[in-house]
Formats: sequence, structure tokens, C-alpha cells
Amino acid sequence: MNVLVTGGAGYIGSVVVEQLLKHGHQAVVFDNLSKGHRAAVAPEAVFLQADLHDNDAVIRALETHKIEAVIHMAADSLVGESMADPLKYFGSNVGGANSLLNAMLKVGVRKIVLSSTAATYGAPETMPITEATPQRPTNPYGESKLMIETMLRWCDATYGLRYVSLRYFNAAGATERCGEDHEPETHLIPNVLRVAAGKAEHVNVFGEDYPTPDGTCVRDYIHVIDLADAHILALNVLERRSEVYNLGYGSGYSVAEVVEMARQVTGRRIPTEAAPRRAGDPPVLIASPDKIMRDLGWNPRHSELDRIIESAWRWHVAHPNGY
Ligand code: UDP
Repeated sequence: MNVLVTGGAGYIGSVVVEQLLKHGHQAVVFDNLSKGHRAAVAPEAVFLQADLHDNDAVIRALETHKIEAVIHMAADSLVGESMADPLKYFGSNVGGANSLLNAMLKVGVRKIVLSSTAATYGAPETMPITEATPQRPTNPYGESKLMIETMLRWCDATYGLRYVSLRYFNAAGATERCGEDHEPETHLIPNVLRVAAGKAEHVNVFGEDYPTPDGTCVRDYIHVIDLADAHILALNVLERRSEVYNLGYGSGYSVAEVVEMARQVTGRRIPTEAAPRRAGDPPVLIASPDKIMRDLGWNPRHSELDRIIESAWRWHVAHPNGY
């Protein structure tokens, strides 16, 4: 299939592109490089540097490359930043999706896989989170993705667009070529590894008084390869229907447990310091992945946290200054 990957130069996007190519698809990356890296894009993929808000550029990309389906990953995705600047998130995420969908419908492309997020659920009281758990986002980032999910539902009802929304939990780990390189880095595992590498003095632990066993936040960390694999399966669903799936393993680790595991994996000292809670962070997010396993036979192969951290560490050591 000819697939347009928006945000394909980003951390998760670049791995999705690798997996698409591995499965014999054609990948066309559409990325404005505001966050992504040209070097992250596999050489076999077509690369277009352009912005989603440029409707003509999207239409040109879809037509020129005879695109059959879109994997839409381009987005701003930082909870903390979204709390400080909500309109940035509604503008870039919701506005970007609106422009993309208009272009797709104009040229008759009616298949899309959306990177959605656990942040659309907010802070549910019962774990694990299933797809039927009510979505009540606690930050504008999650709200913006929920709005895009809603747009897709209406586009299905009205225009016959088929979509699969994949609600990611915490993507982590690396492949040999692709790893996490954000500026500024806000995610836990790369920040922990920066300390292990001696590039920062300590890890800030954002909140130690959450209602969790050790007081730090619990997340469901999923290897980026398992995450990317689900996109390939999702493309097949688009032939038949629209769907929503959670993507996580169903097991959670606290911030303190991640730091401890990173100490074991790297053999380095990793000092921590207590810091205030980060606005918008729910205490616990753990997925139920039952639906995607049952429906699509998604079979994660990289679920051990030590292996996830080890892959990220290997990439970090090989790319000490990022891409
Ligand atoms: N976190 C932390 N220190 C850091 C980065 C993150 O304590 O330097 C915590 C953060 O508050 C959250 C968890 O680690 O509870 C995972 O955060 P991350 O930003 O990696 O992912 P998110 O869950 O926000 O998507």
C-alpha cells in the first residue's frame, strides 16, 4: 500500500516507517521537521518537508504519490506544554487534522490511522483502561486528540472515511537506527538515561505523594517496535471498518521503578531529586490491550521493561548527541 506518514521523521513515526518498509509498503513521509529529524527517516522512504496547514502541499503529496492510506502522527504531544499553552495544541493538532482530512476527502483518500493517546482518558479510577472507559482528558493535549477522534467519527458517519484510532500509552525504547531525540527532552526514560550518561546531575521525580504504592506515577511503557507493528495491522482493518484500540501491555511501572531498572541496566549511578507534581499528570495509566490482541492478533514481543530500557540505552550510547 502507498502510505503517507505525517510526522514520519519523529520518534515513533520513524519506527513506523521502518516497519512499513519491512512489510513491503511504500512510505511517504510528510513532516515539517519542527521536532523530527531528517536523519531519522529511512533512506528507502520518500521524504517531503512540508506543513499540514498547507492544504495544497497535502493534496499534492496525496496525488503525486497515489496515497491509499494515511498514518497521522504529526502533532504536538507534551502534556506540560499543553497546560501552559492550550491554544497552541488546539491550533496545531486539531487544525492540522482538519486540514489533512479536508485534503484527503478532496482527493478521495478515505483511510486513516490516528496516533491517539491514553491522555484522552484523563485520570480514570479503575484500571486497566479499556476502550469503553469514559474519555475525560485532564490536559489540552489529551483534549486535542479526543477532538480529532471525534472528527474522525463524524467523517466516517458523513463521508464514509474509515479510521483506526490507536490510543498509545507510554512509547519507549529504540530500534538500531531510530531512538528518542527531543529538544527539550521531557520524557522519563531518555531523561533517566541522560543522567546515567553523565549529561545531567539528577532525575527530577515529579511528585512522590501520588496514591500509588511508592507515591510516584505509574505508566504502561510500550516498546516502540510493538507500537509500530500495530499500525501495520491497523491498515488491514481499514478495508472493512473503523475501530479504536488501546496500545499498552497491561502492566505498569512507577517512576521510581523505572529509575531503579535503569540503574541495573546501565550499571550507572542515577541520583534522583523530589520535584513538584507536573500539572496535568494522572497518577496511574495502565492499558487493557485485550481488544487489539483479540481482534487483530497483536502479539507484542518486546514487553520486558529491562529490554526496553536496554534498547534505549544502546541507542543513546551510539548517538550521544542525538541524530
Ligand atoms: N517524569 C518524571 N521526571 C522526568 C520526566 C517524567 O518524574 O524527568 C514522570 C512524569 O511526571 C510522569 C512519568 O514520569 O508521571 C512519565 O512521563 P513522560 O513524560 O515520560 O510521559 P507521559 O506519561 O507524560 O506521556
